[in-house]
Amino acid sequence: KLYNQVQDLKGKIRVYCRVRPFLPGQASRFSTVDHIEEGNISIITPSKYGKEGRKSFSFNKVFGPMATQAEVFADTEPLIRSVLDGYNVCIFAYGQTGSGKTYTMSGPNELTEESLGVNYRALGDLFQLSAQRKEVIIYEISCQMLEIYNEQVRDLLTSDEIRNSSSNGINVPEAVLVPVSSTSDVINLMNTGHKNRAVSATAMNDRSSRSHSCLTVHVQGRDLTSGNVIRGSMHLVDLAGSERVDKSEVTGDRLKEAQHINKSLSALGDVIASLAVKSNHVPYRNSKLTQLLQDSLGGQAKTLMFVHISPEPDTLGETLSTLKFAERVA
Ligand code: ADP
Ligand code: MG
Repeated sequence: KLYNQVQDLKGKIRVYCRVRPFLPGQASRFSTVDHIEEGNISIITPSKYGKEGRKSFSFNKVFGPMATQAEVFADTEPLIRSVLDGYNVCIFAYGQTGSGKTYTMSGPNELTEESLGVNYRALGDLFQLSAQRKEVIIYEISCQMLEIYNEQVRDLLTSDEIRNSSSNGINVPEAVLVPVSSTSDVINLMNTGHKNRAVSATAMNDRSSRSHSCLTVHVQGRDLTSGNVIRGSMHLVDLAGSERVDKSEVTGDRLKEAQHINKSLSALGDVIASLAVKSNHVPYRNSKLTQLLQDSLGGQAKTLMFVHISPEPDTLGETLSTLKFAERVA
């Protein structure tokens, strides 16, 4: 059954929508989410004539505000398994700043066992599953952590900028590759990455929401009887905030950042949308992000996009554009 599930995912793009709950202490509790039923979500839209309207969207799955990290991960797990079988997997978190991308991928600032995000759970699974196969296949697992900011790639494990990143998609040869063998190794590694990200952020206010961060996991397995080598990879990408900035309000660095983000997110949307319709031309070259992930998007690769929305009425515009983006790639 599991094998069938994995086969089903091959070459397909899955889109899961997740709605953030209201935050503790928030005064207004009026949600723009009307209802959620299986893969459908409907949003309340005020109309010009004072009467409310509804807009519905369909995805592979919709997680409401009460969904736990474990529930969200349960539907991601089949993808993780396939990395050990030699597939390339990409998991993205998309949405405006504050919608819960980092929560899904990493978890909240104060981590507990229950609140661990997809990154930790995915690595934990890889360790556990590879241990189960150790009589047959010996696996080595290693990680890279990169950041893309203003179309420049930075190695978060050394905080060096990578100049020559005309990458082949799976490997950025210049980036530090750290072997890991336990979840605590991964937590240490991610702490280093987060620290380096924070250091470079001092000059600019909350740069992390305006850069893409990518945790890449390389898996190499050697079959003990045949000697064959299996290689798989997984990219776990916490994308820059998708909100549009008002051009009349920002200038200089802030405008430049916004244009870079805009460009790379639309390039990602274009790539996924053209893969979805099996187009002959997939425009990978239009951004660093899509160049970096080229070999892991399309073909035999498996892609999962988590799109995040906030429930507050004042973010309705962004919520609708997020859902439209998601529907286009689904
Ligand atoms: P983003 O990375 O998209 O900017 P965050 O993940 O930082 O957003 O989320 C914004 C805030 O909302 C954080 O305080 C986070 O802990 C909280 N949050 C997000 N999603 C959830 C959730 N599903 N359950 C509880 N709190 C959440
Ligand atoms: Mg974030």
